[in-house]
Amino acid sequence: MNNKFSSKSAVSKSKYYPVYLSFGSNINNRKRNIEKALAELARNNINQIKISSYYKTSPVGPEQRDFYNLVGKFKTYLTPKELLNRIKEIENYLGRVKTVKWGPRIIDMDILFYSNKIIKEKKLTVPHKEIQNRLFILQPLNEISPNLIHPIYKKQIKTLLKITLTKFNDTVTKI
Ligand code: ADP
Ligand code: MG
Repeated sequence: MNNKFSSKSAVSKSKYYPVYLSFGSNINNRKRNIEKALAELARNNINQIKISSYYKTSPVGPEQRDFYNLVGKFKTYLTPKELLNRIKEIENYLGRVKTVKWGPRIIDMDILFYSNKIIKEKKLTVPHKEIQNRLFILQPLNEISPNLIHPIYKKQIKTLLKITLTKFNDTVTKI
């Protein structure tokens, strides 16, 4: 049984799930911060399936540097809670190398979708509750998975993007 030809079911301990994560940075080398986050995920066995281009987003409101944003599809064996803890650890790890002063974050990583699960817990809401309000999420998502269906709204990403484009006019530019 434990030779290398043993059946797949005998060796696989648990199932993996597709997840979508978002990344944002507006401090220091913004692209590099996101690259580092992607590398940390890979080191943590959260494997990349596909990633969007980088997008530049002008924040509305008080003067702040533009954000760089990206979304990616990954596969993971972690449960939703474990995944949240892991991305928080990575955020802390990447943040630790920089200034202690409070300010915009070096890296923000959020769970957008975890398969088609709907989770409403104190510390975790999936799908992420702002997807339908954020062009900087919908535009990169539409680039990699336009036909993905939002499990609550039951609409495809390309449809949600069309609706959101009529409501908001922040500038999100592919770079
Ligand atoms: P924000 O992402 O809203 O700018 P934070 O990254 O500090 O702010 O997240 C605040 C809290 O949001 C996290 O500590 C986490 O417990 C909670 N949270 C709820 N749902 C999610 C999600 N889908 N992805 C990431 N964090 C989430
Ligand atoms: Mg966050």
